[in-house]
Amino acid sequence: MMGAMITEQLYRNDAYLRDCSAQVLAVNEPGGIVLDRTVFYAAGGGQPGDTGVFEIAGGQACRITATVYAADRATILHVPEAGGPRPRPGQAVRAVLDWNTRNRLMRMHTCLHLLCALVKYPVTGGQIGATESRLDFDILDAAAVDRDALTAGLNALIAANHRVAERYISDAELDANPGLVRTMSVQPPRGSGKVRLIAIGEAGEIDLQPCGGTHVKSTAEIGRVVVSKIEKKGRLNRRIRVALG
Ligand SMILES: [Zn+2]
Repeated sequence: MMGAMITEQLYRNDAYLRDCSAQVLAVNEPGGIVLDRTVFYAAGGGQPGDTGVFEIAGGQACRITATVYAADRATILHVPEAGGPRPRPGQAVRAVLDWNTRNRLMRMHTCLHLLCALVKYPVTGGQIGATESRLDFDILDAAAVDRDALTAGLNALIAANHRVAERYISDAELDANPGLVRTMSVQPPRGSGKVRLIAIGEAGEIDLQPCGGTHVKSTAEIGRVVVSKIEKKGRLNRRIRVALG
């Protein structure tokens, strides 16, 4: 049984928080800064970790260039810029996200859920970026995947402004519904007894799958997108790239 998380992950309940006050628990060199609470998402599930700045009392600013999990997969490390100012353990900081980048990641991440909804084949990999993202699929009928048709399909789902919500189920419920897991390469985290699902559409009819990332609240917030490229990566495997318009 895993103990309580050291760092309260404020973005889990509210992905729109841009900053928070926090206390510094540790400054690991090398490694990173550990806080009691954070709005910074730690890299995982294909979504990059957040960047931003820690405002330190006295007017100094500590630039954060990456956010990652430590080897224990529980401790969140905020990686400071080399050679810059550092807060001290016990000090209070204001942790401020690079909101423009994070908001683009939320939009791109939610868009990849819509791509999953349109391409009903197993996902073998993926990466989210602030301007372009990709998902890899094993597609049995590759001729059926058309760039223009996918672009139109994505923008129709975006324009329909479907609700994006989270809900929780038990590990046992997930075991009873293995079809919920779309990504072969990333199994949802277990052990806490509950699994977080992201549901798009009132009843999750557009997409419903386990996910720990950050998303926008409704699909219209994604804005226009374009399927920029479909690459052949193997006999069955296709890499579909999507960009914000
Ligand atoms: Zn997600």
